[in-house]
This record gives sequence, C-alpha cells and structure tokens, in this order.
Amino acid sequence: MTHPCLSCGACCASYRVDFSVYELDDAGGKVPSGLAVEVNGSTCRMRGTDHVPIRCAALTGQIGQRVGCGIYEWRPSPCHELEPGDYGCEKARARHGLPPYAEAVGDRIV
Ligand code: SF4
Ligand code: SF4
Repeated sequence: MTHPCLSCGACCASYRVDFSVYELDDAGGKVPSGLAVEVNGSTCRMRGTDHVPIRCAALTGQIGQRVGCGIYEWRPSPCHELEPGDYGCEKARARHGLPPYAEAVGDRIV
C-alpha cells in the first residue's frame, strides 16, 4: 500500500515553512541552505513558500497525483510536526480540492 502523502503533497504547497537558521546545513543543521531564503537573522523559509502560489522548492511531482520531498531526510522541523489527518493537513487538502485524509486512507483499504 502506498502512503496517501505520496499522492498528495498539498501541505507542501499551502503554507510558509519557517524554521530556525540553525537548522541550515551551513549552520550545523541538515536543511540544504540553497533551498532556503532568509527571513531575518534567526529565521529562514523554504524557498518557494515565500510567495504565491506557494510550492516548496523541494517538492517534486504533481500535487494530488504523485509527489516526493527531495530532501526528506533533511527536511526542517515544521515538516516533521504536521501530521497526516491533522487540521493543517485537512485544510491543505481541501485547498487543493482533495478529499479528506480519512477518505484517502479508506480508499486504499477497500
Ligand atoms: S496534506 Fe496531509 S496527506 Fe497531504 S502530504 Fe500533507 S500530511 Fe500528507
Ligand atoms: S521540505 Fe519537503 S516536506 Fe517540507 S514542505 Fe518542502 S517538500 Fe514538503
């Protein structure tokens, strides 16, 4: 069974993804600094989530079809915090015209 997130990607194209500059690889963290833009001295943002239409520069594929995160192992903390099926997930899915997460999971079980 393929995880529903791999045919979604809506959250990666809905929100600003802000995190501490200390998560950047050039500051000792893991997030590739070339994929981030500076917000201020302590915060940066995933490139592509700083303007509309929002789409994180690390996202590959087509939303609602087949997607991937090009830096999955090195993604910043907000990407770890958003959980499939939570409020942010459902809001993002609705914004992209996708059915609720519970339905997407159910579709794969039946
Ligand atoms: S919006 Fe929800 S289902 Fe879609 S990729 Fe994000 S966490 Fe996964
Ligand atoms: S870093 Fe990966 S998981 Fe995080 S918003 Fe970008 S594509 Fe999505």
